[in-house]
Amino acid sequence: MSVEDVALAGQEPMPAPLGPESFEPFPLSPPIREALAARGYAKPMPVQTAVMAPALAGRDLVVQAQTGSGKTAAFGVPILEKLVTGAAKPGFPHALVLAPTRELALQVAEELRALGQKKGIKVVAIYGGVPLGRQVSGLKGAPEVVVGTPGRLLDHLRRGTLGFAEIKTVVLDEADEMLSMGFWEEVTEIMSMTPQSRQTMLFSATLPYEVMQVASQYLREPERIDVSGQALTVDGIENCVYHVLSEVPKPRQLLYVLETERPTSTIVFCNTRNEAEMIGKFLSQSGFVAEALTGSFRQRERERIMQRIKTGELKYMVATDVVARGIDIADLSHVVNYSLPEFSEVYLHRVGRTGRIGKSGMAISLVDGKGLGTMTTLERQFNVRFVERTLPPEAEVLRFTTMVFRGDAM
Ligand code: AMP
Repeated sequence: MSVEDVALAGQEPMPAPLGPESFEPFPLSPPIREALAARGYAKPMPVQTAVMAPALAGRDLVVQAQTGSGKTAAFGVPILEKLVTGAAKPGFPHALVLAPTRELALQVAEELRALGQKKGIKVVAIYGGVPLGRQVSGLKGAPEVVVGTPGRLLDHLRRGTLGFAEIKTVVLDEADEMLSMGFWEEVTEIMSMTPQSRQTMLFSATLPYEVMQVASQYLREPERIDVSGQALTVDGIENCVYHVLSEVPKPRQLLYVLETERPTSTIVFCNTRNEAEMIGKFLSQSGFVAEALTGSFRQRERERIMQRIKTGELKYMVATDVVARGIDIADLSHVVNYSLPEFSEVYLHRVGRTGRIGKSGMAISLVDGKGLGTMTTLERQFNVRFVERTLPPEAEVLRFTTMVFRGDAM
């Protein structure tokens, strides 16, 4: 029997049920209902409808869902509903969420804080790259929920500032991402230190072998829910490509495209750190409000830049995939691929940053020889329809971008 068979004996993934038109039918207490309303969540998203009942019933779950599908509230609401305010002792949270990146940990913590606020639930985020001190005092404040990245959680555990003895629920968020970022040993170490009586919910966009192996080892007869098909699509997104001219420097062509398309806010995705840093510099030297953000940046710097793009102060964030993964920025008008990624799924994740929840968005890609393969796969396997736009002749691009450099075209 395969690992998957062992883990999910005989179970087909549950299709997402048709959801109710409001949160009304769910057995939720007034403070949680009020928080949902205050957050502007009128209607449950499919993953929330699918997860609510089994999660409230304390079942273990394996949920295939993408970033942006509403999965934080899907696990957050049942957890917050069941928690008892003020029952946690300092350093001994009752719920633990593991996340692959600092940004995601922060984002999940913010969402849970907002949803648990009216109930008086305390949420602390624990991640590396910042001094331990503030996190230690946060833990001393007896939060009911801790959201963290695996490495830093273990640091606190070893120092005795955090304990897992009282954990009732564990969530593995973006499990496949924690695996591919090399956190798997830490994840399993943490799992084995939490009480066996816990409820475990695993969320992942894909279910590779190692993830299923952990599911079979640490989850008890998990219910399997699959809403992945609904989120990883390009519905509502216009996909455009510009074929790169070989005789003009590519950064200049990007400048031309940005000036022509005029996004109000965008992430420009690059495939490497060097490329992102170079393009970030190039754009700001050309007079754009642009900043690069890559994995090599210090935590404080990352947070500052994320804050700037979230508030709309920063128009162009030039980033690599690691940083942008899982980040929710409302109202991103465009996603630009300076280079197409090697894997088509990465494209779908990138463009999922725009056109979120009923809004329309635009994905623009500069395509050269290397990107053609990805483009073909996207067309064939994912039915992405690309609108092809052409750059003007070399001389026109150069004349135009020189004007931008001088500020004449701004
Ligand atoms: P997530 O997948 O948890 O990152 O959520 C993606 C986005 O959906 C976030 O901006 C949430 O604030 C938003 N969201 C979550 N649930 C709902 C809902 N029921 N109605 C509207 N927006 C929601």
